[in-house]
Parts: sequence; structure tokens; C-alpha cells
Amino acid sequence: MPIGRTVSGLMYWYSKMLYNAGLVHGSYFNVGGVSPKEVGSMNVLERVDKPENVAANLDLIRSHIGAYQMIRVGLVGEDKTVVITDRDSPLIIGGVIAETDSVIVDNVDHEAFFHAVADFISLILYEPRLKIAALVHCTWRHINTLPQRTITEMLSLGCEVKNLCAAFAPSIGPCCYHFPTKEVEQHTDPFWQPYLIEDLLNGQTAIDIRKLSLDSLLCAGVPFNNIDHSRLCNACLHGLLPSNYLDGEKAGRFATVIMTI
Ligand SMILES: [Zn+2]
Repeated sequence: MPIGRTVSGLMYWYSKMLYNAGLVHGSYFNVGGVSPKEVGSMNVLERVDKPENVAANLDLIRSHIGAYQMIRVGLVGEDKTVVITDRDSPLIIGGVIAETDSVIVDNVDHEAFFHAVADFISLILYEPRLKIAALVHCTWRHINTLPQRTITEMLSLGCEVKNLCAAFAPSIGPCCYHFPTKEVEQHTDPFWQPYLIEDLLNGQTAIDIRKLSLDSLLCAGVPFNNIDHSRLCNACLHGLLPSNYLDGEKAGRFATVIMTI
């Protein structure tokens, strides 16, 4: 499992495949930051922390990867994607792209785009020939549509599906993401059925959001051998990574970042 360490003491996951393809990216563990232990030292969510702590943590990441600025990608549960072609895009307001969970970065080099996440999957896509990258937040509500929507948009920009590389950042696995079976049956659509793992003895059902995300990439035509997985569960690694599932409202968030160069 590729884990990087910086001279300033940060620790992060990265995909060797995306690294070799030339994309700067990573997910940052709670090591080396300035936030209090309760929210995780590298927390990037202001709601549970002092804004100056979050700003300092983001600056640690920014200086590690050599970005001009750290641009936050909304996470508002909207099932749409935006394309950024210019660092002065009107879609970037005060360092934030609001109203989307999915951003496509079309040759805006040395600007870092990040999700502040806990549990759900940040999917990273990259087309090395055109240097077009995307960061997609695969949430409960649109995990089966947004990856495909983003890929369709990337293809309209000239990307070829056979060249697309993808990696799943750390997220909650079926090892930890389970609920009472009755609850799951009430709240899941039929398409979830193949991704539910029922524990009859304990009356719990695990939800495999990773498998569903993988299937949606394969359905979109991304070659199997071009898909990488962190295989890290943030709930198993509680302490190193935050978990909204485990800690609820008081949970911090970790940053998953992409940057073209
Ligand atoms: Zn787990």
C-alpha cells in the first residue's frame, strides 16, 4: 500500500498508478497537522474546528505539493459535474466551487482541488494524454450516476475511455458500514441489492459502496487494469482518519486532493 511521508511530518495515501501517470494527488491522514485530537490533527472541516486550524492544515498540504492554492469542491449532494478550464473561473468563489460534488480539471496546472471527506468515496479520474483530471464524491444519493456522468463529460472533452485511469481514495468498507437489516431494506433502492451483505445472526446488513462504485466504472468502459483501490477503510483506521459513521456530527474530515502539473 503506497503511503507517503513528507519532511514536514505529513502522512498520506497515494495511488502508484496515478503517480506514474503524472497526477499529483493524495489523501492525508491525521498526522502532522495542527487541529485538536478530537477532530483529527489534519482536519479540514471548519464546522468542528477553528478556521485558522483548517487554514493551517490546508497550507501544509499546499506547500507539500507545491500548489498555488487549495480549492475546495463543494460536497452538496448535487448530481452534476462542473468543468474548470481556468484558474480565474467564475465557478471558483473564495476558493470554493459550490453546488457540485464532481469537478473536472482541464489543464489548470498547479491548482489543487480537494474534497473534505469522511466515509464516502472520493474517486479520482485521470486522462494522462490530455492531462484532464476529475474528483468525484460518490455519496449515498448518486453513487450509481455521478461517476458515469463525469466520465461522459470527460469523453466530450476528447478523453478516450481506454486511456482513463481511476483510483478510489480511502473510504468506509463493508467491514464497518452496516446498519440494522430492517433499516437497510426500507431505505435502499433495488439497484443496491447486489451490494448488500446480510448478517442473519446479528440482524445487520453491510453495504458495499466500493463494489458499486467499481461496477459503475466498469459499466462506463474504464479498463479493469486501469482501476486502482486504496483498500483502506477510514473506520478501521479510526484515529488515523475521521469517520462520520462512527462519530456523527462531531467528526472531522480528511482531504483528498488532485493537481495536474
Ligand atoms: Zn472497516
